[in-house]
Formats: sequence, C-alpha cells, structure tokens
Amino acid sequence: RSSSLSVTPILTNLQNTCATPLPTLRRVADAITADMRAGLAVDGGSDLKMIISFVDSLPTGDEEGLFYALDLGGTNFRVLRVHLGGKEGRVIDTEFERVTIPEELMLGTSEELFDFIALRLETFVQKEGGRFHLPQGRNREIGFTFSFPIKQTSIDSGTLITWTKGFAVSGTAGRDVVACLNEAMERRRLDMHVSALVNDTVGTLAGARYWDDDVMVAVVLGTGTNACYVERADAIQKLQGQTPSSGIMVVNTEWGAFSNGLPLTEFDREMDVASLNPGEHIFEKTISGMYLGEIVRRVLVSMADCGALFGESVPEKLSTPFILRSPDLCAMQQDKSDDLEAVGSILRDIFGVSVNLSARKMILEVCDTIVKRGGRLAGAGIVGILQKMEQDTNGLLFEKRTVVEMDGSLYEHYPQYRGYLQDAVIELLGSEISKNVIIQHKKDGSGIGAALLAAVYSKYK
Ligand code: ADP
Repeated sequence: RSSSLSVTPILTNLQNTCATPLPTLRRVADAITADMRAGLAVDGGSDLKMIISFVDSLPTGDEEGLFYALDLGGTNFRVLRVHLGGKEGRVIDTEFERVTIPEELMLGTSEELFDFIALRLETFVQKEGGRFHLPQGRNREIGFTFSFPIKQTSIDSGTLITWTKGFAVSGTAGRDVVACLNEAMERRRLDMHVSALVNDTVGTLAGARYWDDDVMVAVVLGTGTNACYVERADAIQKLQGQTPSSGIMVVNTEWGAFSNGLPLTEFDREMDVASLNPGEHIFEKTISGMYLGEIVRRVLVSMADCGALFGESVPEKLSTPFILRSPDLCAMQQDKSDDLEAVGSILRDIFGVSVNLSARKMILEVCDTIVKRGGRLAGAGIVGILQKMEQDTNGLLFEKRTVVEMDGSLYEHYPQYRGYLQDAVIELLGSEISKNVIIQHKKDGSGIGAALLAAVYSKYK
C-alpha cells in the first residue's frame, strides 16, 4: 500500500480545519474582547472570569529593602530573597532556592504541607548572611505566588477553591491560604508575613513593569496558559464604585477558559472528552504546552488506523495518551536535514519503531499544523486584550509603545511557536501599529515580581 494515498486526505482535512486565516484570527480576537467586557461587567458573565487581583499599584523602580518571594505552583516551590536599592541601586543582590515537595505531602494534610514550606523557608532565611540587611524592628515580608484557583479577597488573602495539578491536600479548600502559611510560620516562631498574594501572571507583569513603565500585559505559555493586564478601574463595572485611587487594577483574565469561535477538530473534541475537565479550558487545550503533543498523537493514531503511516506494524506505544510531548514536537521541528535523521531517532525513542522518510515528513506536517494553530491563536488572544484596551482609550493605546511580557517554557523554548504567534499579531495589527507593540521575554524580571509586590504593599510604607 502506498502511504501517501490514504494518509494525505487526513492531513489535508486537518490543515483545512486548523487553518487560521486572517478572518478567523479576527473573529477570535473580537470574541476575546467581547468576553472580557462581559466578564468585567458581572461575575460569571463570561467564559473569562476576569478576576480582580487587588493589585492597584505596580513597581516603579523606587522600591528599597529586603523582600522575599515564595512561589508555589507545582511539584516544586521556589523561595527567593532580593535586596532592592531604589532607582540607583536597582537589584543589588538576589538569591533563590528550589525545593521539591515530597509526594506524600501532596496527598497529606494542610498543616503538614504548610509546616514543610515554613520549615524550608526558615532554613533559607537562616542563610541570609550579611549582604542582606533588614532594618531593626521589621518583619520580613513575602510576596506569595500561588498558582492554584483561589478566590482572592484582598491583596493579602484568598480562599483556595480546589487543589489541581496532582495536589490532593486535605483541609485547605475553602480556607485562606495566606492564613494557612502565616499559622505555620507562627508555629515555627518565624518572624515573617505575607504582604501580597498573587497569581503567576501578575507576578510576571510586576517583574517586567519594574524595568519598563510600558509593560501593560503579561502572558504565560507553559504547561497551561493565562494572561493578565492593566485595566482602567472605571472600566470594571463589577468593582461597583470601589475604585482604587490609583485608577488602575490588574485583571487576571483566566483566558485558558475561553472557547468561542475556535477552529477545532474531531481530535480536539475527543481529547477534551477524555480529559479531567471536559468542556472546560478549551483555549488552553488548543494552545498550551500540555496538549499540543497529545493532539498530534491523536491525529497520528487516525493516520495509523487507516493502515498507512507506520505500515502494517502500528507501534503499541502510539496508544499511550500524552506520550508525545511538546518538547518532542519542538525537537523534531528543529531537524532541517533532508533525510530527517533526528526526527527518525526521536520517533524511535518514543515509539520504539523505525519510521520511513515519507512518514517522517507527514508527521512533521502534522506537528506544524497543530503548533501553527496554537501559536497563531495565542497571538489572536494577545490582540484581543490589546484591542480591548485600545477601544477604551479612544484609540490612543497604539500611538505609544506598549509591551507584552511573555513567560513560560513553551514560548521560551519553541521558536516556531513564537514565530507563528508574532506573525498573527502583525497580521492582525498591521505592520505600522505592530512596531509599537513589543512582545518580549525578559527572564530577569519574572522571578522577583512577587517580591516587588511585597515591597509595593509593604506594611512599613
Ligand atoms: P509550568 O509547568 O509552571 O507552566 P513551564 O513554564 O516551565 O512551567 O512550562 C513547562 C511546559 O512547557 C511543559 O509542560 C511543556 O509543555 C512546555 N515545554 C517545556 N520545554 C519545552 C520545549 N523545549 N519545547 C516546547 N515546549 C516545551
């Protein structure tokens, strides 16, 4: 049987369904803008939750002193201290440590988990040394990045809705996670307190804003995806007049939950049905790192089923969900050789079979189709946010420089994805306006964002 005969229609069909020509991008960007408005009007008004972050001031560069950050979002947590020297000294010194959370603690009690965090924090504080100086009579202050769903109730409090990402800790859901941490620190007589509780996108925004006043949007593209931006407080109806004096509010869009008008395939629908959260987070399932490889795998299964892609011997491992990951797609797409030697060896490593050249080419086409759709839709999402801000400033936004800070390994490590994202932004905005929209990834800012917000919201100010 000739492989190209029976597989090509599947590819063509896939490419047609996943296509993101300009009208599709525009439809998605407009739908995001509309959903943002609906979510700002009332809670529950849209797929986009548009969560009030309570961050109504951002770092200016004047911040001074010693501050800590604690980042809990997965199987590791990070502790960091930074010595800030104001506009002149800037970041004088910084140190961090990464701690793996033992698996049993992810399934234990709330006290056990927070006691462990407090203990490791204490050990880290004890290694402070002379380079970092805390003025007498002051407690150490922490910016706490907590990347699980919470209902934020103030800048320094928020109730855990539910654990995700493999955590099943009893006794935290429904509680204020800052209180949980504070109590654990008190049990250890640790003289620290949390000044700011933030989402990871908000930390990214704050970290970038410290260096650049034009940063208005932050986007994370890693395992999952999310975005936040600086909104005019008077544009947030659901604040109901509780307008901060600064006039601004950082809004966490939770855009992973967006779903209107996306170009989806049968493979997306089947993956969604089989997922832990069917019907939810459709945008995330189309553009983020966790899912790109799994969509490709499902396409390959269908190509293999018609008997052609792998010849007669379909590799058994092809039926293992999530066996193909976005770093694998990325590695294959870097192979520019004629014989696609590297693609062959990656496929052999993953599936344990040899794949002939025409099948390698076919697989690369599938990867490119899914990654192109993901990157371009992420670009449309960014334009959706920018045009919402633009409409509310009567067209002034695009006349000046605006910076979008990017974070997350998918964006950082996948050049093709990055390129597709950038292309879509330029196509949507046009080449003139795009010159004013800077999409950047500056690694130095993101880690210290939460510590900077601890400085902004310091109780000693
Ligand atoms: P988080 O899990 O907090 O989002 P990261 O931002 O590091 O952390 O994102 C990790 C995800 O990024 C991985 O799950 C994977 O999907 C994706 N990723 C990591 N490295 C690469 C790579 N080289 N190419 C493509 N995607 C990658």
